[in-house]
Amino acid sequence: MNFIQTRGVDENRPQTVTFSQAILSPIASFGGLYVPQMLPELGEEFLQKHLNSSYKELASDMLSCFEIDIDAKVIEEALSLYDKFDDASNPVPVVKVKENLYISELYHGPTRAFKDMALQPFGVVLSSIAQRLNENYLILAATSGDTGPAALETFKNRANVKVACLYPDGGTSDVQRLQMVTEDAPNLKVIGINGVFDDAQNALKRLLASQSFKEALQKKDTKLSAANSVNFGRIIFQIIYHIHSYLELVRQNAITMGEQVYLNVPSGNFGNALGGYYAWKMGVPVEKIIISSNENNVLTRLIRNGKYDLRNCEVVGTTSPAMDILKSSNVERVLFDLFGEVRTKELMQNLEENNFYELTADELAKLRECFDADYCSGEEGKKYIKETFQKYHYLMDPHTATCMKSYETCSNPEIKTIAYSTAEWTKFSPVIANALTGEVDTKDIEALESISKVANLEIPQMIKELFSKPIAQTTVIEKENIEDEILKFL
Ligand SMILES: *Cc1c(COP(=O)(O)O)cnc(C)c1O
Repeated sequence: MNFIQTRGVDENRPQTVTFSQAILSPIASFGGLYVPQMLPELGEEFLQKHLNSSYKELASDMLSCFEIDIDAKVIEEALSLYDKFDDASNPVPVVKVKENLYISELYHGPTRAFKDMALQPFGVVLSSIAQRLNENYLILAATSGDTGPAALETFKNRANVKVACLYPDGGTSDVQRLQMVTEDAPNLKVIGINGVFDDAQNALKRLLASQSFKEALQKKDTKLSAANSVNFGRIIFQIIYHIHSYLELVRQNAITMGEQVYLNVPSGNFGNALGGYYAWKMGVPVEKIIISSNENNVLTRLIRNGKYDLRNCEVVGTTSPAMDILKSSNVERVLFDLFGEVRTKELMQNLEENNFYELTADELAKLRECFDADYCSGEEGKKYIKETFQKYHYLMDPHTATCMKSYETCSNPEIKTIAYSTAEWTKFSPVIANALTGEVDTKDIEALESISKVANLEIPQMIKELFSKPIAQTTVIEKENIEDEILKFL
């Protein structure tokens, strides 16, 4: 299967590219993205056939429907990384919280957040393509906390790939920072920046676009790539768990095969939700996808009134920082699927030039057939964390908690919901401790211990170990010096 482009094709590019090409340079003509030429039809037969499959069997069969240019051996190795999750036989448990509400837990991987679902196998695939081409790649990552640890973990000691990871010093949780600075491998460089996440992100964008940086890399026989969630190599692994979660509900006799469910997704860059949308198009019976946001509620406004409006709009810091995003990149792929390349190019250019676009009434109606949305404030989120724990003994993190609001406001309670949990409680412990006990300003280690006591939960070994692991990465610099620092590392 080949890949086409969301904003049409400029004269310098081929009409279609392979999966490998779309992975290595994920930005398409006119700043667009790559999408599969056609989504495979799975249908109910595929679902029936996989009722008793393991996660890996399901994944492997689904991937083979895409007919991508990656060896079956490489795919097998990539999928074998799910064996390192808490339960190798089921890396994504789906848990009943209450009547008609189920939570699909996407955080049982090595860094305790959902980025592992895609980045773990993606690391193997990217490294294998680089080896096949006999090329060296530098992966640049800027992180507010979750992507960084997951990217370092997946690329550590992999051939033909180096990673430089930028984070705002003081702008992540202790656990997230320790997950990065204790990573020790010769192909990894972690760089703290005196600044905020936007400074790291802007530095990354500048370097990705810089001709002189590219030339400096060329002298070191290295090419530049990025592992952010516009990369289809990540999206493809995010379709699988939506299919799996549906099948889990059938297995648990919560639904009958063919019954429609809501998917409720805590969203930032829209990769997770897009995976659900593609799973639906491929044959998973879905009533609607509910998009949950925090106070950065641009997606709620888009889906409610058809306007993507960033005028006079700034990112605000919230208790769910992995969702503090205004330009939600993967929405573009839905626009393309619903409205085609000409209209997508027009809308995205409006957004880039005027910080604004508006759908027609017909277009909005089409979007609303697929999606509904609401947002949840940090205070409301903490209330849901406490209430869900007290009533149902289920502990959720602040990202997952945003789903509870939209569950109440957007869904018909007769229809089953699969809500997605994107982080373990251990990653955002001060907020959760505050929600449960009212304690304020606790450090991660204290909050972990207090939650562990209140909720009677063990702190996982890999989190406990972080606090005594040697610090391997000590670089903290001014943002002006990032380029030099990276070249020095190479
Ligand atoms: C990345 C992330 C999200 C947002 O997912 P998208 O695919 O970017 O929409 C939500 N929660 C957590 C904990 C994350 O790390």
